[in-house]
Amino acid sequence: MTTGWDEERLADIAGRHGTPVHVLDVRRAERSADELLGALGGLGRPGRAYYSVKTNYLPHLCERFAARGLGADVVSGYELRAALRAGFAPGDIVFNGPVKTPEELALAVRNSVRVNIDGEHEIAALERAAAEAGTVAEVGIRLFPGLPVTASDDPAFLAQAERTARRGRFGWPTGSGQLARVLAAVDAARHLSLTAVHAHLGSQIVHPEPLLAALDPVLEEAARLGVREVNIGGGFGVPGILRPRGTDRSPGPGLDPATFLTAVDKRMTELGLGDAVLACEPGRLLVSDAMCLLTRVMSRKELPDARWLILDAGHHIAPWTGTGEVHRFTPLGREFSGDLTPWSLAGPLCYEADVHAPATDLPADLGIGDLLAMHDSGAYSLGRSNNFIRLRAGVVAIDGEREDLVWRAETDEDVFRFAVGVTA
Ligand SMILES: *Cc1c(COP(=O)(O)O)cnc(C)c1O
Repeated sequence: MTTGWDEERLADIAGRHGTPVHVLDVRRAERSADELLGALGGLGRPGRAYYSVKTNYLPHLCERFAARGLGADVVSGYELRAALRAGFAPGDIVFNGPVKTPEELALAVRNSVRVNIDGEHEIAALERAAAEAGTVAEVGIRLFPGLPVTASDDPAFLAQAERTARRGRFGWPTGSGQLARVLAAVDAARHLSLTAVHAHLGSQIVHPEPLLAALDPVLEEAARLGVREVNIGGGFGVPGILRPRGTDRSPGPGLDPATFLTAVDKRMTELGLGDAVLACEPGRLLVSDAMCLLTRVMSRKELPDARWLILDAGHHIAPWTGTGEVHRFTPLGREFSGDLTPWSLAGPLCYEADVHAPATDLPADLGIGDLLAMHDSGAYSLGRSNNFIRLRAGVVAIDGEREDLVWRAETDEDVFRFAVGVTA
């Protein structure tokens, strides 16, 4: 399977910028955005895509997405400010999340950013902010159906997934008394107008059927309320990573966005939502394979019971492998032996859990100094990276022939500038 990356160019970047380093291919991200916008545009109704800023907040990327016609999904005041700075039109930003401070809500209202209500107390804060701004603020409400979006042959796994789905904390359960009470409060607020429902039911979802079934109660609620926009959230799974969940180790049938959106569109029409906007909030789908992380083998240990390659990229900059996500690795920079062997891959942290893969087939002759690309690293890497033991990596963006460092690597000074009252 080809990776689609110019391996010689990657090795050259690693040589000039050092490792570990992220590489962003801007055109890959733009292509994904265009494909999604094309799929939405092909439906017989208005569509919208809000890019999930938390998935990768790199300004270089956000600016491109804003220019491409995407909106933004933000989940904190800091993300809201970043989205406004990146040039997303305020009317194309939605503000989600379980906690929004009164100041953050007021900032949203002043900028005509729609807030999807997730806490009952937000209603009073929004009403106050809208009254102060002398406006009627459009709001949405976040719902959850209490249904799992996974699939498995294992009844115990499914039962657990069902319990977890019912115990959701983002939004309100469809059809519940609690939801009715919150809706009545929104209705009573003179400066608020409910125009959207919102749901976001998970990430790296690879089973379209349970997702469609889980969205059904959300669409029904939208039809009952007669809202103008139905936002089905993000979560579109990508083929480049595997996230074994419990005993559900299959990669799933995969979720083709165009096919899935067509199915949602059809169901909306059946439910009488013929004119409503169909909106989604992808993150991973747009950025996952637009980045790879270049890393070097720093140590090779062949022990009686394990064969380790220890890399300079660890969980501090590739945090997902710590949650069981399996990413593809390819060797770079020279000719390798065709003889493959199952290597255990670890990061450089002096920390038990810093393991990327217990056994992954790679050339037997890999050794110190060799380069690997860790693929599909665009989602939830930069924003979730930290400086536990080692410093954060920079990002080199390529755009056709162009190449620019768009995020520099962290330094000791960056980290310790947080220290207050130290004399040295
Ligand atoms: C994280 C998040 C998304 C994006 O999820 P992906 O799995 O990356 O597509 C969308 N909407 C909300 C509310 C989120 O919190």
